[in-house]
Amino acid sequence: MQNFSEISRSVNRSCRIIESAGVRIAAADDLSAMPGIEHGFSTRIGGISPAPFDSLNMSLTRADAKENVKRNYRIFADAFGIDFGSLVLVNHEHASNVVRVDRRDFGRGLTREALPFCDGIITNDPTVTLVTLHADCSCVYLYDAEHSAIGLAHAGWKGTFKRVGQRMTEKMAEEFGTDPAKLAAAIGPCICKNCFEVDESIGRDFAAEFDYEGISKPGRPGKAYVDIEAALIIQLLDAGIPPQSICSMGLCTFERRDLFFSYRRDGAGTGAMIGFLRMKN
Ligand SMILES: [Zn+2]
Repeated sequence: MQNFSEISRSVNRSCRIIESAGVRIAAADDLSAMPGIEHGFSTRIGGISPAPFDSLNMSLTRADAKENVKRNYRIFADAFGIDFGSLVLVNHEHASNVVRVDRRDFGRGLTREALPFCDGIITNDPTVTLVTLHADCSCVYLYDAEHSAIGLAHAGWKGTFKRVGQRMTEKMAEEFGTDPAKLAAAIGPCICKNCFEVDESIGRDFAAEFDYEGISKPGRPGKAYVDIEAALIIQLLDAGIPPQSICSMGLCTFERRDLFFSYRRDGAGTGAMIGFLRMKN
């Protein structure tokens, strides 16, 4: 993509940390300015889990007690005025399957059976709160104000490579008649291009899939760095979303130990954050 460096420089990378009842979340400034939705990305601050899950661990699959995690969800929901019962959790498998949900799915993945495997969830039901899990993997937020529909995706490197952001845009077009040209998109915190080192072959795969020379750069012998945020922006552009409608929170989960858990930094003995998105009733 010839002009991607220029487009990337023009992406608004501003977010703010919002605190309510001791719980802190990050929120993208561009999405916060939109009256129809509420969104955010949880930090590690404000929960009850002990070290090394301290303290707002949202993952039910780590060695943290499930009661702690469920309590953390309640604390988070109460702090931000969200109905605990309205949460619907993604069931990610690092692929690009996207599932449509509605109020019949309330509580799935949290208080009842999980959804079928999916990395993206979409809805036009204004009572649903979409939730995705993250511990270095990015988050893609989509908002279609015209059709009152939203989508939220978990985007690790595999899902990013499989274009889960683009697939979610296509699924919203199929299900809701969404016009990508009218979508607003945001990218959540994730491990950044200076911190995410992978096998050289993965760097080559990304370079072949995404037409931008800065997508990968050499790392240590046999290794390469990959720019996940750029790969997500490129696929959202490829999906037809205008560059000026794409923003990013611009925070690195690996670097910001004060705010985030990081699987790369801390291994499996750490917690996870959530992205959430809902329409205002
Ligand atoms: Zn970084």
